[in-house]
Amino acid sequence: MGQQQKVDFNETKHPYLWGSITVFAAIGAIGGAPLLLFVISYAELHNINIATAIIVAILVYVIFAFIVCMIIKGISAIINSRNYYPQKTIEYNITNKRKISADTMVDNWIIQNGIEPVELHIKDIEQWKKTKIDTFKGNARKIEKFNARCALNKGKAFRFVSYRMQTRYQQVNYKKYPYQVRVNNEDVCVSEAFMLERIDFLKKHDFNITYNQYHAVDQRKVLTKSMREQVKRRDNWTCQLCGKIMRDGVGLHIDHIVPISRGGKSMLANLRVLCSKCNGSKGGRLDGDEERDDFYEKDELY
Ligand SMILES: [Zn+2]
Repeated sequence: MGQQQKVDFNETKHPYLWGSITVFAAIGAIGGAPLLLFVISYAELHNINIATAIIVAILVYVIFAFIVCMIIKGISAIINSRNYYPQKTIEYNITNKRKISADTMVDNWIIQNGIEPVELHIKDIEQWKKTKIDTFKGNARKIEKFNARCALNKGKAFRFVSYRMQTRYQQVNYKKYPYQVRVNNEDVCVSEAFMLERIDFLKKHDFNITYNQYHAVDQRKVLTKSMREQVKRRDNWTCQLCGKIMRDGVGLHIDHIVPISRGGKSMLANLRVLCSKCNGSKGGRLDGDEERDDFYEKDELY
């Protein structure tokens, strides 16, 4: 299942503040000792009070480090600008799945999580645009910059981070111990327009089938084991023509209501359960559409 993360674009982040403090400390740690040695020897050479020299050196160092920090902060403010398009990060677990295409992942995520999270984020974006435009009212140059940034980031409104959990083994005293590692796949970023397009398509098909499944040349391959189970459960292991109940599932066939040969798709709405007798006598037999459930126990495709 995909996990959602709420985007809070009003949040002010200061990751670079801590970064600059680290740099500050690092300069002190590395440069501190030689600097101190230099100051002491310089003071001895020129007959200056050592304590005064150290205080002056520390003051100079603090001012120098402060300037360095401000420069880092300034650069970070530009990089970390809140003008960036609000992005929703979606984690998608693809453990035990073969190579998955980006649209299949997006479609599956929408089917699993519904359209509300998408709509909420698009609402957030609209609100963000409004506040940004209000902020920049009367400042043409800034609006220009802002628009340019938006254009750059429009395609990144939704970021899909797919990962799989891998089992690895550690050997201790001739014994193997399994442990799980998270392996990240490459990220996929899509625009709000793309998401709306996906929702349109899925709505048309009752959130039953992904785009890739819909357009698969071999609709039989789309019919997965879990879909078969779903159809059986939905139809209560009952032949939809004669009403014969077969709890053990043996002899139950999954039938395409509109045959594949006539453009029928392997989606829940187009599937039903038939007993072997009814499926055998169905006219669709000529289409080669009937299949014994246990003959096609193929792996999930994605
Ligand atoms: Zn029957």
